[in-house]
Amino acid sequence: MIQQEINIAGSKVQYIFNAGFKQLSKVCDKSSTVLITDENVLAAQPALFKGWKTIVIKAGEEYKQQAAVDKVIAQLIELEADRSTMLVGVGGGVVTDIAGYAAAIYMRGIKVGFVPTTLLAMVDAAIGGKNGVDAGIYKNLVGTIRQPSFLLYDINLLKSLPVDEWQNGFAEIIKHAAIKDAVMFRQLEKLDLEFYMKYQLPFSELVMRNALLKTSVVRKDPTERGDRKLLNFGHTLGHAIENDNKLAHGNAVAVGMVYAADLSHKITGFPETVRLINTIEQYGLPTHASFDIKKAMQNMKHDKKRQRDSVHFVLLEKIGKAVVHPISFKKLEQHLAADY
Ligand code: NAD
Repeated sequence: MIQQEINIAGSKVQYIFNAGFKQLSKVCDKSSTVLITDENVLAAQPALFKGWKTIVIKAGEEYKQQAAVDKVIAQLIELEADRSTMLVGVGGGVVTDIAGYAAAIYMRGIKVGFVPTTLLAMVDAAIGGKNGVDAGIYKNLVGTIRQPSFLLYDINLLKSLPVDEWQNGFAEIIKHAAIKDAVMFRQLEKLDLEFYMKYQLPFSELVMRNALLKTSVVRKDPTERGDRKLLNFGHTLGHAIENDNKLAHGNAVAVGMVYAADLSHKITGFPETVRLINTIEQYGLPTHASFDIKKAMQNMKHDKKRQRDSVHFVLLEKIGKAVVHPISFKKLEQHLAADY
């Protein structure tokens, strides 16, 4: 077990790596803790929840809506949760986003901790304090920024995770490498999904490296004025096509990264689109999706990174170095129409 306390925007967050789920009872007291999970995680690993008060939500992005949060709050009231209650999200990004948000607003804020059970949540969604829900098809339009008290990592929880969800997690890992870590990118190029699914030690090192990479970016820029924006690489188009086309988050991000790489080539002269495409394919992710350009443009106009008639787009200069570039909707549409 590797334990670190990291200060993020004035909040102390305990990172507990290489842990077992059983250690949760050492981190929080069963009698004053409520777990939140989803139906799939409960069905896959029912033993985890024995003896814990547990709220179960419906699985899937389509349920990451305010209505789900209202139901969680009704159940917290029923369970007589009070200001001393710790809420713990045990699940993927949908669960941790909802748990973080519900904890932020219930009684104007109770403590929250996360036990991520998808790779994507381990390396990305559970980290950084952003939480919230979609508003209709618009991704993450409602929410708060608030750090969890702890993150507990047990990679054995991934044993029941379907392969396509492992692939989704690798989309964010490839993103981290592409924007910030050329050494990790080379390592990803040399290895593949099968290797990481088989060998626990290099895999747990990869998870920790990515969790700490995201944490370091968030720590330096908690309010997203600078470097944190780079984490949106692949997400501007990704988010715009994700819900409309019922794409998994990681799949949408993979397609968004390829588009952003093509755009980078035109604007910054980024010469390594093929390397990026090959790596994305190596981890079983799509590099292309068919979508309605007009609808995608419409959705992008609701992107939180919009600035009047342009959007802050994350582009690559080279593998490991990203930049933010404002680009007008008009230009974006022209590029999309030319490429897709
Ligand atoms: P998810 O929570 O929907 O999980 C994917 C699927 O795997 C679900 O069907 C879930 O029930 C199932 N599952 C989870 N753990 C399992 C396990 N151990 N065994 C078997 N099945 C399991 O999705 P996700 O990919 O984890 O997260 C995506 C969400 O995270 C999106 O809503 C995205 O917007 C959000 N996100 C948030 C942030 C943030 O900073 N807050 C960052 C990235 C992504």
